[in-house]
Amino acid sequence: MKIPITKPYLGEEEKRLVSEVIDTGWVTQGPRVAEFEEDFARYAGARYAIATTSCTTALHAALATSGVKAGDEVIVPSLSFIATANSVVHCGAIPVFVDINPDTCNIDVNKIEEAITNKTKVIMPVHQMGLPAEIDGIREIAERHSLRVIEDAACAIGSAYKGKKIGGHGNIVCFSFHPRKVITTGEGGMITTDDAELAARLRRFRHHGMSISDIERHKADKVMIESYHEIGYNYRMTDIQAAIGIVQLKRLFFILEKRRQIAEFYNKALSEIQHIRVPEIPDYIYHNYQSYWIEILDSSPVSRDILMEKLLAKAIATRRGIMAIHMEPCYKGFSRVPLPNTEKIAMNTLLLPLYPAMSIEEQSFVIDSIKEIMGYG
Ligand SMILES: *Cc1c(COP(=O)(O)O)cnc(C)c1O
Repeated sequence: MKIPITKPYLGEEEKRLVSEVIDTGWVTQGPRVAEFEEDFARYAGARYAIATTSCTTALHAALATSGVKAGDEVIVPSLSFIATANSVVHCGAIPVFVDINPDTCNIDVNKIEEAITNKTKVIMPVHQMGLPAEIDGIREIAERHSLRVIEDAACAIGSAYKGKKIGGHGNIVCFSFHPRKVITTGEGGMITTDDAELAARLRRFRHHGMSISDIERHKADKVMIESYHEIGYNYRMTDIQAAIGIVQLKRLFFILEKRRQIAEFYNKALSEIQHIRVPEIPDYIYHNYQSYWIEILDSSPVSRDILMEKLLAKAIATRRGIMAIHMEPCYKGFSRVPLPNTEKIAMNTLLLPLYPAMSIEEQSFVIDSIKEIMGYG
């Protein structure tokens, strides 16, 4: 038995719609992207959705159109995938790292205010591994200091905070469709917002700053000459990708049910091992379990890295937990305060295999292997 860390859930419907797009001859951003955007906005509970090439470019576009420029500061957790901080640097701005709350692995709301300076423009919380950050507390701080909130929801499609889906809390929210996330378009991203003017600007920004879209020109019965009022980027999703996304979004309900079922099975079985901490989810949160992490406690007979090696020897793939960005060589010197919780979680956590098609046998093999390595049974 060989168990991967994840496996995208794709099928015949995706193939059929992709082949339909190819037959029409319109393969770049066009009617399917527009349809995917409408479906996505409706699902997430936002007024507008704007598709991009990835979550990284979505974050960059959201920051840039929010006026973030050279010398500005953006507050981010260090415990995140490196793209979170990179998107800030892509604007010429400075990511200011804040420690996490080790219970949720999300930014510690009580430590945000001390990181705010007169250069701060945006607070960018990350819904790490799909578990929503404290949106209300963050919003309150942002309002008090006249800052914008841009949510890095790369992992959080389908998750909910206090009864409302991620995307529905009135902020600017960026999602990813990389195959490691809950639904995929190969590569791809999405921005949601309730602000009509910002949505229009984002549509131009991702299309070289062009004043009219290809769809508008295609539908027009007269010649249309475009103009460029600001310098944009090519961050366009293709209609081929959007076709996959349209079908994936229809599968989301099933995917979420399966992921939660598998996570609950892990929670139950692994909480019997005293050397492991399993995630505890606050009751006002609906978790999509984009990733399933465990923390290896100091009492454990094996370290995190040895456990990963021994599992790999049994053909079980795992990954280290979420990285600490400030510990990477390219972010040396960026952290202004100690980040002890971030470092501890980054060193002692790992991600276990979880995908909708995972069988009970596969999962039991993972659990039994961990127990055996830890000296149980
Ligand atoms: C995956 C991920 C990203 C980057 O998403 P891409 O679509 O691959 O650019 C950004 N932030 C977080 C937290 C992520 O997990």
